[in-house]
Amino acid sequence: MNSQVRHSQIANHPTAINASLDLVAVSKPIATILQRALCGEEITEQEGTALFSSSGNDVAAIAQCADIIRQRTVGDSASFVITRNINFTNICYMGCKFCGFSKGKNDTDAQLLSMQEIAKRAQQAWDRGATEVCIQGGLHPDLPADHYRKILQSIKKQVPQMHIHAFSPFEIMFGAKNSNMSYKDFIADLMEHGLGSMPGTAAEILDVEIRKQLTRDKLTTAQWVEIISAAHQLGLPTTSTIMYGHIDAPHHWAAHIALLREMQKQHRGFTEFVPLGFVHYESPLYTDRKKLKLNVRPGPTADENILMHAVSRIMLNGWIDNIQASWVKLGPNYAQQMLRAGANDLGGTLMDETITRSSGGIHGEEILPADMVTMIQNSGLSAYRRDTLYTKLQSYPDRQSVNLIASCSGALT
Ligand code: SF4
Repeated sequence: MNSQVRHSQIANHPTAINASLDLVAVSKPIATILQRALCGEEITEQEGTALFSSSGNDVAAIAQCADIIRQRTVGDSASFVITRNINFTNICYMGCKFCGFSKGKNDTDAQLLSMQEIAKRAQQAWDRGATEVCIQGGLHPDLPADHYRKILQSIKKQVPQMHIHAFSPFEIMFGAKNSNMSYKDFIADLMEHGLGSMPGTAAEILDVEIRKQLTRDKLTTAQWVEIISAAHQLGLPTTSTIMYGHIDAPHHWAAHIALLREMQKQHRGFTEFVPLGFVHYESPLYTDRKKLKLNVRPGPTADENILMHAVSRIMLNGWIDNIQASWVKLGPNYAQQMLRAGANDLGGTLMDETITRSSGGIHGEEILPADMVTMIQNSGLSAYRRDTLYTKLQSYPDRQSVNLIASCSGALT
């Protein structure tokens, strides 16, 4: 099934958001859970699994419940951040089966950006209004131990005020090992050199068996938790993510979100939760599924996308306030619809998205700020531009303000 069909399913989905939650057509067990959620009670992992396993009218009701909780938590507004993705290398030997991004050293399209090029791209982003650069790369076997530190130094020297959101837990594990340092010491050193926050990527599904299939368990669930917890203990905020729609199932999703919730109770270090649907087109996990003897699905269904944003909003209520809809994975129209199913953020403008495109993603490299504002306004919410840590930077109350930021968007050289 191609993504266009999947997206049109959403357009026709009966999820019409009403002001109040009508539970008449909802199955009794789901209605009971939603009533508890609306009373502010914590939804258990088992209840989360039940919500994730829903279909039909129940899906619409879960989305409506999430929309109400979103409204209570962050009001009738949604946000975006002007950021640039800089993927400094695609050379990687980890061999994660779902990854269409990594290349061998001698591949013709292998790439390792120089420090000058990274700094130049950060400067270009700053000149276009970016407040953040997001830096991630493959685990290049020949990287010197201080490579990550040098990236930070190069950017800070060029653009001192730029927020650097960088290095997945996989990269932290790799860099700490190369540097003979503990995770905590390695992260503290990066913070001293300008690291402002970390992406909580490489989480995939925090389940031992699923991770064995996806990543050969090279970064285990325990290591992911240890690295993120180390960052939080040091006062470094991170995002949190899930990759869903491959060999996973509802009980994995509920367990994953329950684990993130427990981590948040410990240190309050997560800024947001970002569901990332599996993009299958050129992912070896999907293209080689027969050889791998795995029953791999071609990404999430329409209902699963709605449920992921809605149930995460419901389960994380009171703990993680920001649920991001990824336009890169979902496409702009679909991401916009998630703003009325629990999400309150559209993420970054990105400027040079490459990781998802490498797996066959079809939603482009960039969304202009003006388009972000339009998407949010079209969903019936008011738009604001934020920084990485969700500080409000600029509100866009009307269409005229959209035109103003549209005219500020020059072309990248
Ligand atoms: S997901 Fe990251 S660590 Fe895994 S193969 Fe791809 S680039 Fe390497």
